Amino acid sequence: MQGVSAAAAALLLLTSSAACADPLRAGADAVRERALADSTAYDLVESLSVDVGQRLAGTEAAARARDWGLARLKALGFSNVHAEPFPITAWIRGPEDAEIVAPHPQKLAVIGLGGSVPTPAAGVEGEVALFRTYADLLATPVGSLAGKIAVVTQPMTRTADGSGYVAANPMRRAGPSEAARRGAVAYLVRSLATGESREPHTGALNYQPDAPKIPAAALSVVDAELLDHLAARGAPIRIHLTLNSATAPATAWTIEGEIPGAVHPEEIIQVGGHLDSWDPGTGSIDDGAGLAIAVAAAKLAGAQNPPQRTIRVALFGAEEMDFARPAFAAAHAQEIPKIVLIGESDIGADRAVSVRLPAGSKDAPEIKTLAAALAPLAVFVSPEPSLGSGDDVADLIKAGVPAVAVAQDASRYFDWHHSSEDTLDKIDPAQLRQAVAAWATVVYVAANSDVDFRVLQAATPKSAP
Ligand code: ZN
Ligand code: ZN
Repeated sequence: MQGVSAAAAALLLLTSSAACADPLRAGADAVRERALADSTAYDLVESLSVDVGQRLAGTEAAARARDWGLARLKALGFSNVHAEPFPITAWIRGPEDAEIVAPHPQKLAVIGLGGSVPTPAAGVEGEVALFRTYADLLATPVGSLAGKIAVVTQPMTRTADGSGYVAANPMRRAGPSEAARRGAVAYLVRSLATGESREPHTGALNYQPDAPKIPAAALSVVDAELLDHLAARGAPIRIHLTLNSATAPATAWTIEGEIPGAVHPEEIIQVGGHLDSWDPGTGSIDDGAGLAIAVAAAKLAGAQNPPQRTIRVALFGAEEMDFARPAFAAAHAQEIPKIVLIGESDIGADRAVSVRLPAGSKDAPEIKTLAAALAPLAVFVSPEPSLGSGDDVADLIKAGVPAVAVAQDASRYFDWHHSSEDTLDKIDPAQLRQAVAAWATVVYVAANSDVDFRVLQAATPKSAP
């Protein structure tokens, strides 16, 4: 053991003796260490990025992604690998263009929001009504934006936990209908993005039933700032916007595979990530990395010995336009009492920071063991209970299924998310392995102990941790 200090050697001895005393701890430690040296997740996201590429739900690329997912799960040794189909309305982007036409011509970098109606073939042109905050738009009287293009330039806050994105979401999702209610003919929003890039970031909108559907797009951060400067000059600004898109009925698929439980096969530990992506990049961080983390963690947690409970992994087929969540909940409604724990990995490829578990479980002996096994990764078990996990599992969590959420460092994620810059080069393999190790340790402990989150959560008053 050349180069290992006496203190380190003593620590190793101590670790191994503690592990001997507790087989759950020994197993969890072993899974964690194997994960830190394992390349399954990187290999998956590399292949998905290169061999499939972007995979917008409802396109031929989504069918290729389905076949990729089936083949990969089979090759990794999962059982009962199958595709679960569900109907969607596909939204397909066409050519898009925007420019300032007054006070002087200037091209703008925009991208249509998912679900946006197209403009007329000749585009729309209108005077800009610029709002530096979303609240300013909401404070504008109904009817006051007649014939105008409403532009919201409020920046999104960079946070490590992604809360800045959650806070900014209504600007993109509800903004188009809020602008339409006030008479606007089109809506532009500063990209929900951190960083200073001229690449715009897309994402879904949600039209409200009581407002006309108007075309809506995201401006690059840099172009939103240009409009701020121009508006400060005081002269009227006119923009011409052309957005083409088409919709069609289509099928999406959630791909599933299992490692059957050897003792309690009817009890399910459900993890996953989403297989679909937006179209401008290769969907490597959203959510190629997330599904790769979930698949690798499930595989590693069940690799040495068959797990006591069934470990199931799902590659959700249409997250970005909100179709997979209700479809998955409907397809698995009968299993609600059987799912012991559910979680989705959908916050990029950077290092895991903390784990939130269902209410009432933090003091369980198995969770103390989990916390000890996670500690060497600098990952802690949060005293706060999990309130949710990824979007695709939200309906099952609402129906009472206990949730696990692994927080990752999302500081950089929204620099690239939903843009042409969501590509493989943004993934740091070492951080990805650490995130896999955290998920794998959680899945291992949940699948190989009797800790019953369903009972613990049900016994805990809603307000208590
Ligand atoms: Zn995602
Ligand atoms: Zn996304």
